[in-house]
Amino acid sequence: MHLASLNSVQASASEAPVLSVRNLTTSFRVYDEWNPVIRDISFDVHPRETVAIVGESGSGKSVTSLSIMRLLQAESSRVEGKVLLEGRDLLALSEAEMRKVRGKDVSMIFQEPMTSLNPIFPIGEQIAEALMVHQKISKADARAEVLRLLEKVRIPNANRRFKEYPHQFSGGMRQRVMIAMALASRPKLLIADEPTTALDVTIQSQILDLIKQLQEEEGMSVLFITHDMGVVAEVADRTIVMYRGDTVETGATADIFVRGEHPYTRALLSAVP
Ligand code: ADP
Ligand code: MG
Repeated sequence: MHLASLNSVQASASEAPVLSVRNLTTSFRVYDEWNPVIRDISFDVHPRETVAIVGESGSGKSVTSLSIMRLLQAESSRVEGKVLLEGRDLLALSEAEMRKVRGKDVSMIFQEPMTSLNPIFPIGEQIAEALMVHQKISKADARAEVLRLLEKVRIPNANRRFKEYPHQFSGGMRQRVMIAMALASRPKLLIADEPTTALDVTIQSQILDLIKQLQEEEGMSVLFITHDMGVVAEVADRTIVMYRGDTVETGATADIFVRGEHPYTRALLSAVP
């Protein structure tokens, strides 16, 4: 296990943040009452930085990312605070504007890649479709771009695999496909919600390495959500520890490992082999 270098934080922290989340509070309606499940979450993600949100299951990590992307059902949820993407408050945008943000500026990958892939279409067609929806490009150009993306995420024999169906891909290869799709729009920010949790340990570290390499190549910022402090150590410059909807600790990852004080942080750390 190694701690991510802190140099990149120092380099990027002087620039304006890509993402500033301020006092993000999300409540769900239960009968007539609004119950907050995350409270006053505030953090920044600077250019080319990876920030981890770590916490046990149910602590509000996914609600945080879904609130940022405005993917919660409007009727049963209430999202308060500010989500500034390069200074623009996403919570104040119209749904049409928000759709553009999702198609271009911010991409998201999830734990189970199969649910986002259509089983009856070849992988290459699905990536091409995503490209053609969000960018005005021809079919021939889309195909070339798909091959470039598949090679970018290190899928061997991209030319052949292009025509294969999701079930012909292993879990790790499917997650590579999802990463390729996420990169298609060249986003400023990638939100990864437990992207390696469903994968075997060896595949897990390959995907983490891939995300780190791509981040450098693309100059992206990453918000990385996980329950696993071992993963945090691998990827994150800075870390936010969440517990039952609250931030209990935030700081440079190395500091959290050495000086993290909250009993819950210590408990998470004691689980790291
Ligand atoms: P994590 O991703 O950290 O495992 P979640 O963000 O998914 O946790 O969930 C945080 C809390 O919010 C949990 O108690 C969960 O049951 C609750 N929750 C999540 N989504 C909804 C929803 N749509 N309606 C009501 N409660 C929800
Ligand atoms: Mg979750």
